[in-house]
Amino acid sequence: MSWKRSENQANSEPLKPLIERGKMSARIKGLSDLQTLVSLCKQRGFVFQSSEVYGGLNSCWDYGPLGSQFKLNVKLSWWKAMTRRPDIVGLDAAILMHPTVWRASGHVDGFTDPLVDCRDCKNRFRADQAESKDGKLICPSCGSQNVTEPRNFNLMFKTHMGPVEDEGSVVFLRPETAQGIFVNFENVQTSTRKKLPFGIAQIGKSFRNEITPGNFTFRTREFEQMEMQYFVKPGTDEGWFEEWKKTRWDYYLRLGFNEQKLRFKPHGPGELAHYAKAAFDVQYEFPFGWQELEGIHNRSDFDLSQHQKFSGKKLEYFDEVAKEKFIPYVIETAVGCDRLALALLCDAYREESLAQEDEAESSGGADVRVVLGLKPELAPIKVAFLPLSKKPALQELAGRLRNEAAQKWNVDLDEAASIGKRYRRQDEIGTPFCVTVDFQTLEDNEVTVRHRDSMKQVRVSIDQVMAYLDKQLNIF
Ligand code: ATP
Repeated sequence: MSWKRSENQANSEPLKPLIERGKMSARIKGLSDLQTLVSLCKQRGFVFQSSEVYGGLNSCWDYGPLGSQFKLNVKLSWWKAMTRRPDIVGLDAAILMHPTVWRASGHVDGFTDPLVDCRDCKNRFRADQAESKDGKLICPSCGSQNVTEPRNFNLMFKTHMGPVEDEGSVVFLRPETAQGIFVNFENVQTSTRKKLPFGIAQIGKSFRNEITPGNFTFRTREFEQMEMQYFVKPGTDEGWFEEWKKTRWDYYLRLGFNEQKLRFKPHGPGELAHYAKAAFDVQYEFPFGWQELEGIHNRSDFDLSQHQKFSGKKLEYFDEVAKEKFIPYVIETAVGCDRLALALLCDAYREESLAQEDEAESSGGADVRVVLGLKPELAPIKVAFLPLSKKPALQELAGRLRNEAAQKWNVDLDEAASIGKRYRRQDEIGTPFCVTVDFQTLEDNEVTVRHRDSMKQVRVSIDQVMAYLDKQLNIF
């Protein structure tokens, strides 16, 4: 390999990339089927089937070494976007709550899906998701119309608290995190002395006994939610609803989403949840079609009023300026962390056909590279250190650089296989930068920094390389 020039001196001219890649766009293919991503996730340690050695547990997934870090980065991006604002604070409420919470919220009576059984193939499906002909539902599995009448099936998981399993010990695994926020409204407001409008953000597991889970991690029975409830004065709610739609749209663009694959979908009057005055979904175009990513709801004063009624405790806010008491309205933004992580992976996945001039990069004649074009902030590994050969001096130096970088970021040290193969491996998991230590490094104290997206390679002196990476990664 040959190198253009060094980026050592502060006065050096702008770097020229070693590889110019002008006509890339025509040779890029996005993700066309979910199965490709499922395979990559398994092979590279993003997501495994739960309890796989026992044949797996339907719709349950485990996040592997890369997946758990990636998911944490997704959560951090949301947490920072919320709680670094002066008007939003965080909360981490318990999964198990007093059973009356779920009567007050309407979940005991109303959190149901209409369930239908096919008498022929014994398949169970949701009436509201099935097609019908001549007023009769069609089984999505075998096409039979010999099906039962819909009956309501409650989606909450029930369990018992304590040693006695009777009706008095029933508790539910929460089906949403929001109620933990509502019942703590008073605690948070008085302990933080927040004035309206202010919000409470929470990330946590939720459980729903979904009738038809599926599409990988899109719809599962155990999942994580990132919900924020923004408490406002009644009358200002419609303005805040519009404000939050815009804020959340901007967040998705900042995460790097292709804007063409995002859209808002309003809920029609017949689709609104019992608590909602208005609702919009943010939808993403997954390989299996447009689907909800996030819900933005105007929940009015429904939840606080209900908890006030059922608990007998006042959940009003006193406005010191207007000298009046009222129950605040709530604007909610609710997104599934697993669903967002899946959408990000779908959006970031691309296959690039390499042109002639990229041949130096290709390994064993392979001319297609798979890239996860994740924003550095989200990538599970930020930098991989690659000694060009097994020569101890190169390995030792690469290891030393790796350890230094690990104090700031999640990094990798990859010593096996050809350099082309190692670049491909890092591209496939979204690593934004590779740092190669080669024979010339031992003479001139410079390493090669290779950029994932452009494949451009630049020489940087060892004592400048951490600052260089820091600037390029630009992680806030
Ligand atoms: P859906 O219509 O897809 O069932 P929902 O409208 O019931 O979702 P909400 O109750 O508004 O969903 O929950 C907020 C977010 O939580 C959803 O936008 C989605 O991202 C996520 N979510 C809800 N149910 C699941 C699930 N079973 N698996 C994974 N994520 C989920």
